[in-house]
Amino acid sequence: MEWTLEASVDELDHGLYLLDLGFQNRKQVVAAYLLVSDDELVLIETGPGSTIDHLRRAMRRIGFTSRDLTRIFVTHIHLDHAGAAGLLARENPALTVHVHPFGAPHLVDPTKLINSATRIYGDQMGPLWGEFAPIPENQVVPFEDEQVLRVAGRDIQVYFTPGHAWHHVAFWDRGTGTLFTGDVGGVRMPGQTYVCAPTPPPDLDPGAWANSVARMEALHPRRLCLTHFGPVYDPGYHLSQVMPEVEKFIGLGGDLFERGADQDRVRQALTAQMTADLGGADPEVLANYEMATPAYMAAMGIERYVRKRNG
Ligand SMILES: [Zn+2]
Repeated sequence: MEWTLEASVDELDHGLYLLDLGFQNRKQVVAAYLLVSDDELVLIETGPGSTIDHLRRAMRRIGFTSRDLTRIFVTHIHLDHAGAAGLLARENPALTVHVHPFGAPHLVDPTKLINSATRIYGDQMGPLWGEFAPIPENQVVPFEDEQVLRVAGRDIQVYFTPGHAWHHVAFWDRGTGTLFTGDVGGVRMPGQTYVCAPTPPPDLDPGAWANSVARMEALHPRRLCLTHFGPVYDPGYHLSQVMPEVEKFIGLGGDLFERGADQDRVRQALTAQMTADLGGADPEVLANYEMATPAYMAAMGIERYVRKRNG
């Protein structure tokens, strides 16, 4: 599953490119999408700081540099989705970064975000995620719910979609029937039927998540573009899997925590569940699910959610 530059760019439609950012030098873990028109170059998701060199090289393959970017849209501010936004904004002061209003202050001053991530990742913080640079306030633009933005020749509508994170949004390109689902639409590797629910701390909220999935289903998308990983052409099936998977993980992990299990025990149980749900899939495929949504993060998110729920 090694990343190669040759396979890192896929033109899905005229002017819509899938970029494989080669997270930890593996293919099919973290994607970004590039919207191209004569006068605009818009990046949806940036990947982490650690993959910025892969991003630059992938863009160069289709004739652009990161300095040509006019706007960045991020579904949320987790490191694998927005981590490189500050680095890109720094080299290009005309670039604007668009984000949910709850996420905006953390892009301007990422101190809290970096501190809480460092508590989780310790000395792996740098190798995994690279630099997370602050963005000047005048380059950060908050979204409004259901706002339509004319970008790169398309009308992109913004939908607030909490559940995975409070500040999560999805992007609806009505003209092509494409919905960019970030993490609220789940994680699914190419060629697989298994949709995994990413349930990290601190905002996991299954009630809000269910509303968000209903909102996305009501759009009747023709195609989903997942950040982990790639386009999905059976959106009805795919979206129908998300909430049962969220509930299954919370049920499994929550029961164990309530019976006194520790995080490591819950992590093992979630991994066993994922392995079973994947059936006889190649272990490399399981490894990609695990990199996109690590079981220990899922266990941490469920523990926090269950504690809150039980007061
Ligand atoms: Zn993610």
